[in-house]
Amino acid sequence: MDTLEVLRGRLDKRPARLGVMGGGFDPIHIGHLAVADQALEQFRLNWVIFIPTGTPPHKRGFLTPAELRYLMVVVAAAGHPRFWVSRYEVDNPATDYTVETMSHLTRLFGVGVELFFITGADAVLEIMTWKEPERLLGFCSVVAATRPGYDLGELEHLQSRLVGGGRIVPMDVPGLDVSSTDIRQRVADGRTIRYLVPQRVEDLIYKWGLYALGSKGQ
Ligand code: NAP
Repeated sequence: MDTLEVLRGRLDKRPARLGVMGGGFDPIHIGHLAVADQALEQFRLNWVIFIPTGTPPHKRGFLTPAELRYLMVVVAAAGHPRFWVSRYEVDNPATDYTVETMSHLTRLFGVGVELFFITGADAVLEIMTWKEPERLLGFCSVVAATRPGYDLGELEHLQSRLVGGGRIVPMDVPGLDVSSTDIRQRVADGRTIRYLVPQRVEDLIYKWGLYALGSKGQ
């Protein structure tokens, strides 16, 4: 049974507020975990469900196999009582558009559940190029994670262009300077990633030989 079915059983028609963390998570790092934790508090969410992408239509270039990215997210999220991880996009690459995922969640959980799609501000800035952005914003609010001091001008401009009342909400997260790109580069350069990713994620990166110079990721 998928995590989403388990959560639906737990909700049992109660109203709820659910965060959905979308991303490639290649790899997941402490910045992502801080974003999810802050969203829990700031938007009074019951749970945050991490949904790693399968093979997204917009991704060109190398992406670590979905199964390995998913497993890194599972070990990273395991210790938090309100974090969950779903295989939905990993198992349904054909529905790897955010609008399809949020439509599925809306059908599954029902109208009593308020959904917040959470991802990086740079990804949100591209939202008008995504499949059916205005329909997507009918299913959920979109939370755009930024580091403090981020220029909000472009997000505000984006919000003003939306018809139909969709909501894009910026969320400042201290410490979001960590990035997956930087972590991959550090591994390739033989530099430390200690404390930038959870210990068990670091263990998996080295065990599987991800991001090392000469691996397909570099
Ligand atoms: P990306 O281009 O790999 O990342 C863009 C920026 O956002 C990077 O700085 C990235 O940092 C950051 N980021 C990504 N996920 C984050 C998260 N959950 N929390 C905080 N920062 C995050 O973007 P992506 O990962 O491919 O896409 C992000 C989400 O948007 C995914 O769920 C994807 O499916 C969705 N999306 C949908 C469509 C569509 O429906 N057509 C198109 C594009 C994106 P890190 O590299 O450190 O993560």
